[in-house]
Amino acid sequence: MKYSDIVLGLDPDLFRFLRLKVVMIVMKFGGSSLRDAERIQLAYKLVNERQAQKPIVVCSALGSTTDMLLAEAQAAIEGKDFGVAKIRSLHTQVSEELGIDAQDQIKLIGELEEVLRGVALLKELSGKTKDYIVSFGERLAVRVVAAYFDSQKLTSKFHEAWDLGMLTNSDYGDAQVLDESYDNLSKSLGALKENYSYTPVVTGYIAKTKEGNITTLGRSGTDLTASIVGAALQADEIQLWKDVDGIMTTDPRLAPGAKSVPLISFEEASELAYFGAKVLHPLSIQPAMRNNVPVRVKNSQNSDHPGTEILGVIDGASGYVKALTCKRNVTLVDIVSTRMLDQYGFLAKVFQAFNLRGVSVDMVATSEISVSLTLNKRESIDHVVADLSEFATVDVSHGKAILSIIGNIARSSEILDDTFRILRENSVNVQMISQGASKVNIGLIVEDSEIEKCIQGLHKHFFED
Ligand code: ADP
Ligand code: MG
Repeated sequence: MKYSDIVLGLDPDLFRFLRLKVVMIVMKFGGSSLRDAERIQLAYKLVNERQAQKPIVVCSALGSTTDMLLAEAQAAIEGKDFGVAKIRSLHTQVSEELGIDAQDQIKLIGELEEVLRGVALLKELSGKTKDYIVSFGERLAVRVVAAYFDSQKLTSKFHEAWDLGMLTNSDYGDAQVLDESYDNLSKSLGALKENYSYTPVVTGYIAKTKEGNITTLGRSGTDLTASIVGAALQADEIQLWKDVDGIMTTDPRLAPGAKSVPLISFEEASELAYFGAKVLHPLSIQPAMRNNVPVRVKNSQNSDHPGTEILGVIDGASGYVKALTCKRNVTLVDIVSTRMLDQYGFLAKVFQAFNLRGVSVDMVATSEISVSLTLNKRESIDHVVADLSEFATVDVSHGKAILSIIGNIARSSEILDDTFRILRENSVNVQMISQGASKVNIGLIVEDSEIEKCIQGLHKHFFED
């Protein structure tokens, strides 16, 4: 008698309950974890050790290939010397050291060379062309990685994410993933859950529009790809392998005393990423959160360290301050009502003005007759200011920074009391504060030139003393 005969006729929920849990993980390797042959060998070791968990591997471009590609594109458009020599030598050297055939990569680099020549000839470098050019980084990376895995103990195959159904809109450089990608990915990779016949190595960061044009998902987009793949497959864990021992209490480059945070909630991690922590793509937690797939940030150089676990609900989430982050070079807009408008009417008109021009805002603080807000991106707001000026006095100032304190907002009075004391000691003037918009984040606006001393002072107080 077969298993299926036994369970036939059972309630589907009970069936699901009875079935053994199918294990599957996503393992994402960032550029620093694929910098050279030695690191790729290390990645292999990590993936090989986890074969029982059926890893799906997602890769960024090797080392700083993305920056190299952008620099060559820029040189080509400016009529300077450009070429593929550096990119070719990096990849052929790594391939040689790994003992794999580089023919496939060389072919791809030939195509890249043609595109760069096109840029130089046409003197045209649109967002669309830029995305096409940077896509070569990930496309080369998966070829190297899969070929090396395959040459070792693992049967492996590379995939361009678009061949698995990763689709976006056409906002080149920062494209939005279309919802149908989840179904597509689940269909194209789902069979591996039951029958793990090979280790797939998938391009991070890149996708295509429905029309077939190549797009990219924005800075650190490989995190987002990994999260979407993990959510689509309802994986057991999404592992982001980087060069740090997980998410730190603040950017270690700003405060050398930064410590690894062992456990953090989806919401806290999202706020941290959105408000500037350059360790994660700003939206990368959302897909995992949506399908409740745990995320773990790990150090490929120090794999025994547990790193950071990101989970839906955290027991005893009654901590104090978890982490500090900042978003720099932010624009602050102060809007004061000049007419006798009621608060709701005034707020409605203000947000209508931003909405109409498609300008999104990050932080908001309101009073009866005024609104202060910060802008999400560096974009022109001349039109918005003109619209607002019809009923309000508008003051725009640049060079600000948002300092975000991620922590237990239930204790916000204490946190703010501490924070203002430390900032006063450092002679820092807080220009705006926003609290309550998020359950885990308090935002303060300070001068950008003062942000380092703010972070250092607060970090010392909250985490080092
Ligand atoms: P990846 O290899 O996945 O591309 P990134 O370089 O994007 O990794 O992210 C890791 C880097 O992020 C670290 O080396 C560190 O310098 C920086 N970083 C900034 N803020 C933080 C933080 N709060 N926690 C950990 N790392 C941070
Ligand atoms: Mg990154």
